[in-house]
Amino acid sequence: QVTDTLPREGPSSPSYDWFQTESSVTIAIYTKQKNISLDSVMVDLQGDSLRAETFIQDHSYLIHIGLSHEVQENFSVRVIENVGKVDIVLQKRENISWKCLGQPLEKHDSFIPKEDTGLSYRRCQLISKEDVTHDTRLFCLMLPPSTHLQVPVGHHVYLKLSVTGAEIVKPYTPVSASLLSGFREPVPPPNKYIYFLIKIYPDGLFTPELDRLQIGDFVSVSSPEGNFKLSKLQEVEDLFLLAAGTGLTPMVNVLNHALTCMPSLRKVKLMFFNKTEDDIIWRCELEKLAFKDKRFDTEFVLSAPSPEWNGKQGHVSPALLSEFLQRSLENSRVFLCICGPTPFTEEGIRLLHDLNFSNDEIHGFTA
Ligand code: FAD
Ligand code: NAD
Repeated sequence: QVTDTLPREGPSSPSYDWFQTESSVTIAIYTKQKNISLDSVMVDLQGDSLRAETFIQDHSYLIHIGLSHEVQENFSVRVIENVGKVDIVLQKRENISWKCLGQPLEKHDSFIPKEDTGLSYRRCQLISKEDVTHDTRLFCLMLPPSTHLQVPVGHHVYLKLSVTGAEIVKPYTPVSASLLSGFREPVPPPNKYIYFLIKIYPDGLFTPELDRLQIGDFVSVSSPEGNFKLSKLQEVEDLFLLAAGTGLTPMVNVLNHALTCMPSLRKVKLMFFNKTEDDIIWRCELEKLAFKDKRFDTEFVLSAPSPEWNGKQGHVSPALLSEFLQRSLENSRVFLCICGPTPFTEEGIRLLHDLNFSNDEIHGFTA
C-alpha cells in the first residue's frame, strides 16, 4: 500500500504514466485528489523539454522530461475531475512509435510543498495596452502557444522585466478582460491571453518600465501564487467586497465567479474606495453590471472628492462599514474580501473584527 509509506501530513503522492497512439503521446497524471481543475496544472513545452507542474492542495508535483522525440508546439490539457486525473496530450511530429517518453530532468517526479518550489517564468508578448483611467491601463499579454497557464481566482503572478541588466519583479493580479466577460457567449479561449489592470506610478521602479514597452515586446510571467481558496465561498449568501484603488483587481474575478458559479449567492456588494472620481477603475462597467444583475450593488467612496461629489466620502470607517455590511437575511452566511494599500487593508480588517466578523469570514489580500 503506497499510503503506508507516506508522511502523515499533506496529500498522497501523485504518480504518472504515459501511452501513445500513432500520432499522439498522452501523459496521465494521477493526482489522487478530486478537486483538480484546469487551473491546477501549468505546462511549458520548450523544444523537447516538457515541464508540467500540478498544484495539489499546498504541494506541487513536477513532471520534467527531455522528450525522446519531437512534438508539435500545440498540445492539450484535460482534467477528469471526478477521478483527479490530468491528461497532457502531445502531438508527435513524426508518426513513429516511441520506445520511451524521455530522460528525467531536474526535480522530475518530485512532490514538494509549494513554498519550496521556485517560480517558473515564460515570456509573453504585449498585445495591447488601453487607458482605463488617467494612470491605470489594461495590459493584454499573449501566452506562448506552448504554455498552459490559468491563474486561479484571487491568485496573482509576478511580472519580470530586465532593465539595464537588472531584473525587476513585481506581483500583479490578472483580471478577466471585462467585468461582463462571465456573461459573454461564446467564452473567449481562457488559455491564450492574460489581462492586467496596472496603475503607473511615474516615480515607481517597475511600472514606468512596463509602460514603456511597445506592442510586440516581451515580459516574463511567473507561475501563479496566492492563498485565496474558492472553497471559502461555498454556501455563501452575502458577499462583501472592500477594495481601494488597484485593490479592485482580485475582486474582479471573485465577482465574476460569484455571479456565475455560486448558486447560493443572494447579494454581492462592492464598496470601492478611491481618492477622486477620475481614479475609479471601470466605474461605468461596475454601474452597468449593477444595472444588469440585481444581486450586485456598488458604492463609491472618495477620500479627496471634488466639491461637486455628493456620494460617500472619507477613509474606511466604522460608520461606513456598519451601514454597508447589511445582510440580506438576519442569519445569512457572509464572506468578506478586502484589498488595497496595506494601511487600508489592516485598518479594514481591524474594523471588521470590531463588528464581530470572524477570521473565517474574512480574506485580506496582502503581499
Ligand atoms: P514602487 O517603486 O514600488 O513605488 C510605488 C509608489 O510608492 C511610488 O509613488 C513611489 O514613489 C512610492 N514609494 C516607493 N518606496 C517608497 C518608500 N520607501 N516610502 C514612501 N513611498 C515610497 N498593482 C496594480 O496596479 N495592479 C495589480 O493587479 C496589482 N496586484 C498586486 C498583487 C499583489 C499580491 C501585490 C502585493 C501587489 C499588487 N500590485 C498591483 C502592486 C504592484 O505589485 C506594485 O507594488 C506597484 O505596481 C508599484 O510598483 P512600482 O515598482 O512601479 O512602484
Ligand atoms: P490610492 O493611493 O489611490 O488609494 C486608494 C484609497 O485607499 C484611498 O482613496 C483611501 O480610501 C485608501 N487609503 C489609502 N491610504 C490609506 C491609509 N493610509 N489608510 C486608510 N486608507 C487608505 O491606492 P493605489 O495607489 O491604487 O494603491 C493600491 C494598493 O493596493 C497598492 O498598495 C497595491 O500594492 C495594493 N494591491 C494589493 C493587491 C494584493 O493582492 N495584495 C492587489 C492589487 C493591489
